[in-house]
Amino acid sequence: MGHPGAPPPACYRARLRIRAGRAPVSAPSDGRPLGADDIRSILDDALSAGRLEASEAGRLGARVADPVVRGALVDAAWESARQGRGGVVTVSRYVFIPLTNLCRNRCSYCTFAKLPESPEAHTYSLDEVAEVVRGGVLTGCTEALMCLGDKPEVAYRSYRDQLASDGYSSTTDLLVEACRVAFEGGMLPHTNAGILTAEEMERLRPFNASMGLMMETTSQRLRGKGMPHQYAPDKEPARRIRMHEEAGELKIPFTSGLLLGIGENDQERADTLAEIRRIADAYGHIQEVIVQPFHPKPGTRMRHVSPLSDEEVVGWTAIARLVMGPQANVQAPPNLGESVLPELLRAGINDWGGVSPVTLDYINPEAPWPTLPLLREVTTAAGLELRDRGPIYPDWVPREGDGVTTDRNEFYDPRMREAMPRFFDADGFAKRPDTPSGEEAA
Ligand code: SF4
Repeated sequence: MGHPGAPPPACYRARLRIRAGRAPVSAPSDGRPLGADDIRSILDDALSAGRLEASEAGRLGARVADPVVRGALVDAAWESARQGRGGVVTVSRYVFIPLTNLCRNRCSYCTFAKLPESPEAHTYSLDEVAEVVRGGVLTGCTEALMCLGDKPEVAYRSYRDQLASDGYSSTTDLLVEACRVAFEGGMLPHTNAGILTAEEMERLRPFNASMGLMMETTSQRLRGKGMPHQYAPDKEPARRIRMHEEAGELKIPFTSGLLLGIGENDQERADTLAEIRRIADAYGHIQEVIVQPFHPKPGTRMRHVSPLSDEEVVGWTAIARLVMGPQANVQAPPNLGESVLPELLRAGINDWGGVSPVTLDYINPEAPWPTLPLLREVTTAAGLELRDRGPIYPDWVPREGDGVTTDRNEFYDPRMREAMPRFFDADGFAKRPDTPSGEEAA
């Protein structure tokens, strides 16, 4: 895609000339210091190969606090994003439905999950789902995000009893019905319910345009004693990798992502990105990769842990773009980086994720979404164009007669595929409502 409106990128080579001649400042794993020439050569190779390898990503990641190195990474990432994604940045207007905030896991940074006895514990009824969906339809939203804790019935008898009294034998039973209600109510569901089996994903598929699971990290170390995933069996890396692969075998458009700053080291971050890319290459179903920074929350065991600085998040976002390659859809949640929105665009993202005029971000309720007009202003100022998408990206929308996308028909249940023309225009962008939402009009 062309990109006539964008300002010419400041070339990363120019930035590195500033550094040339200075003493190298780090010692990479091969024992040789990583200097300006090395960085230039690594980034040149990454741009021409369309990918940055994990070992190089780890070495560069160790240097993201250095503004010169970060600047070179950002400029290379911008170049990569423009090569592959042109000048369009997308956003999904959505409703967030936290179907249940009970969870069998206890990640030490989480405030989403509640205990059954908590006054804040809540499991949605189908009527409540329908009500949120009505609000979404009225405000021009396309995507109904079903986001919930992992299989709470495994941990809590009271929840099992509640499910049984409502006629469900599992959370998945309830989830399938909730997705059906959202789909029939006029929205396209996208489910992130933690670890699901292949059979469960198959049951959800008719009512979901796409599904997802943040890889978060492939670091086994973080499952160890005193680490954030010690009490989270579903954060076992092998289980998450397996679910990614099973979704690929089922040909489900899939969202993954990296969680930044929960105790992983630079090489573990790079390895996580490389594993997502390996799976994307093997199965061709990874439609987006989210780069999500950890923010410490009061009341959690990790409340005193320092998050990555905004600058480091920008640097790692650039690395994510370079590892995933120019064609990937790379997203940064704008409510978790509101002070660096232009920098995140420069770092190669092409998507702002979901923004809701109706509901909170229940995972990060302390961080309100920026308004759509603000996102549009920031995106336009960067020389890019903001467009609405649904839960799937435009090039994932099956369109008859479009040689690029028709082969993706197999990614959708026939019912879902038939419904898509109601939601998407001829270019795969979400159809806009006749009247602007209250937020857009504000
Ligand atoms: S799996 Fe998700 S919802 Fe459950 S405790 Fe961990 S972060 Fe929270």
